[in-house]
Amino acid sequence: MGQEPAAGAPETAVVVIGAGLSGLVAARELRRQGVEVVVLEADDRLGGRALSETTPLGSRVDLGGQWIGHDHHRITALAAELGVQKFTMHTGTLPTVLDGSRRLPLWSPSLLFTGVVIAAVEVLALVGAPRRCNTLTLAEGLGKLPGHTSRRLLELAALISWTADPDRFSIHAMTKMIRKQGGLRTSLATRGGAQEALLVEGFGAVVDAIAAELGDRVRSGHRVTSITQGEDGVTVATTAGPVRASKVIVTVPPPNLRHIDFDPPLPEHRAALARNTYMGSVYKAIAVYDRPFWRDRSNAEFLVLDAPGRAIFDTSPPAGPGHLCVLVGGPEARALDHLDPAERRAALFGTLTEHLGPEVLEPVSWHEKAWHLDEYTGGGYLALPDPGTTEGVVPLDSTPVGDIHWAGTESAGDHAGYFEGAVESGTRAAAEVVATLTHRN
Ligand SMILES: Cc1cc2nc3c(=O)[nH]c(=O)nc-3n(C[C@H](O)[C@H](O)[C@H](O)COP(=O)(O)OP(=O)(O)OC[C@H]3O[C@@H](n4cnc5c(N)ncnc54)[C@H](O)[C@@H]3O)c2cc1C
Repeated sequence: MGQEPAAGAPETAVVVIGAGLSGLVAARELRRQGVEVVVLEADDRLGGRALSETTPLGSRVDLGGQWIGHDHHRITALAAELGVQKFTMHTGTLPTVLDGSRRLPLWSPSLLFTGVVIAAVEVLALVGAPRRCNTLTLAEGLGKLPGHTSRRLLELAALISWTADPDRFSIHAMTKMIRKQGGLRTSLATRGGAQEALLVEGFGAVVDAIAAELGDRVRSGHRVTSITQGEDGVTVATTAGPVRASKVIVTVPPPNLRHIDFDPPLPEHRAALARNTYMGSVYKAIAVYDRPFWRDRSNAEFLVLDAPGRAIFDTSPPAGPGHLCVLVGGPEARALDHLDPAERRAALFGTLTEHLGPEVLEPVSWHEKAWHLDEYTGGGYLALPDPGTTEGVVPLDSTPVGDIHWAGTESAGDHAGYFEGAVESGTRAAAEVVATLTHRN
């Protein structure tokens, strides 16, 4: 790509591509084992799908990943080791479903069928969906269900849980993912589930702490354009010059591998993984208030059925201020792109005034990000397989290709898509590399 491969001895033992959590964890593990490493990150900032901002009130909000699930032991241990404080989210037993101005209890007749379908999907995830379900899309499956309101609630739960386009996500891929993420009840639940806890200083504090340990081994603004494997190592070409190493760990989300040239070309199953997957679409915003004023009258955990369908959570840290988090997934997230921030806020919070009070429209600050517009990650929460294809259905094949090893949350054996999976994959890839380097010496 316009650069002569650098000749001579490798500059470092290992190059890690991507400074998201998996890449930073891999590099940290390598350093702990005494292996020299350079981390190359395309963006000017570190963290990838972890992104924290400081609010005018001094609190921290996570615009990317934020929750730690009850069974996410690796990320819990890492945060504790780095001195980043975890807190349990303020939550009720179940969210309130809003349909226009109506509050619908989950046991209301129009929603009764929802529970039956959730139970059936849980069973399907356990026993495995039949193969023909790999071409049956979520949109087609939902279309077969009776009851408009039940159907819409299930669609919304899916949009928020997986950020997929319902007509581009197979029932087979969905049930495999549910199984690997610990079951449907766990995926959907707050207390006792995947949305149980957050970090007071945000995930940015985890990123900053690891980056500080690694120092100038981490190079931002280095977009990798090609990876050339030779007999005497690997040459990684970047927009800021090449780096040579003995081994490479790639953490870039699978669909984004299409932007990197491989020489020799990737084997067919790897190339197909890049070709047949896409990143989910997700919009996230956090509104910040002096205090969580809504708690005087109501919980603020909602599933809002009218478009744009959205989930709202009270993610306020224990000592305040008030944080209200809103998530919109799939095509409904992309539909917000043409609005300006004030219009988006009105579209997302306008109907909440009668439930939470007029103050909800006057936050101290508003923090937002449309991940599907992010240049380098390309979306979130994770890469999704096209219906009828198999390479991107979890668990992915992470067998090394020559001197190239694979990390990134998508490659995790379990909890793919979560920070937990990012930590697992970074640790596993570092161990693979250490084992082969030791074997060579
Ligand atoms: C809105 C949102 C909400 C989420 N919520 C949660 C949650 O509550 N809990 C949870 O556990 N998880 C959540 N996730 C998922 C979680 O953020 C991810 O699982 C995790 O951050 C992935 O880390 P990673 O290192 O695998 O990938 P990434 O963070 O995507 O890191 C890959 C890195 O590679 C870089 N890169 C890409 N191309 C190149 C290139 N050519 N050259 C060099 N660098 C390149 C990217 O810039 C990026 O920094 C959420 C994600 C999003 C977007």
